[in-house]
Amino acid sequence: MMRIGLISDVHANLPALEAVLLALSKRGVERVICCGDLVDYAPWPTEVIARLREMDVLSVQGNHDAAVAGVFPIDGFAEEARVTVDWTRAVLSPVETAYLAELEQIHREEGFVIVHGSLRGPLWEYVRDAFVATESFSSLTRQLCFFGHSHIQGGYMSLAGNVKSIDSHVRLSILPGAKYLINPGSVGQPRDGDPRAAYAVVDLDNGHGSVSFERVSYDIGSVIRAIDRAGLPHWLGERLAIGR
Ligand code: ZN
Repeated sequence: MMRIGLISDVHANLPALEAVLLALSKRGVERVICCGDLVDYAPWPTEVIARLREMDVLSVQGNHDAAVAGVFPIDGFAEEARVTVDWTRAVLSPVETAYLAELEQIHREEGFVIVHGSLRGPLWEYVRDAFVATESFSSLTRQLCFFGHSHIQGGYMSLAGNVKSIDSHVRLSILPGAKYLINPGSVGQPRDGDPRAAYAVVDLDNGHGSVSFERVSYDIGSVIRAIDRAGLPHWLGERLAIGR
């Protein structure tokens, strides 16, 4: 059996990341996998990159990582979001920028594949309804796909042609013969109404296993103050407080 700590959408929120890494170490995970968007929005991009590299976390590239690194156009970003991309670019060293630029968009292993958005659109497509999930399953050649981007904890399962959403409030049993799209939710900026940092613990055992979707509290007030001190848009802090 292999136990994986699954995280996504850290968005430069170091206090949230530290809370999640501590919780994962208590669960005895063997490795940590990240579905992208390490940076942008909160004021600790350098520290988050350093921490993930130090912990040997395997990460794919998110749209914000690619935008900050200049390898993805930011035309699709709202005006307010461009402000934070520029802020982050100014803070990162060339080595950190190169690290983001060189992250893989799709990473495949024997039993699973990792993307930020979807297999069809690793940087841009949101999987947040059964229709898009069904299309994603049709190009999935592994049992599991770990993804992020929507900042919504949960995902979808496909069994005998039926696609349904996964309830993140209960432990998910992985069944041989079924396929799964698993989203651990966002560490640094949840958007499902629960402001606590989100992550998942995945146990894999030869086609069997389980996924538990978890939350952990951290000092959101300190992050809101740091966002203000850094001169980043105040609404970024406000949305952290409500998890939207
Ligand atoms: Zn994101």
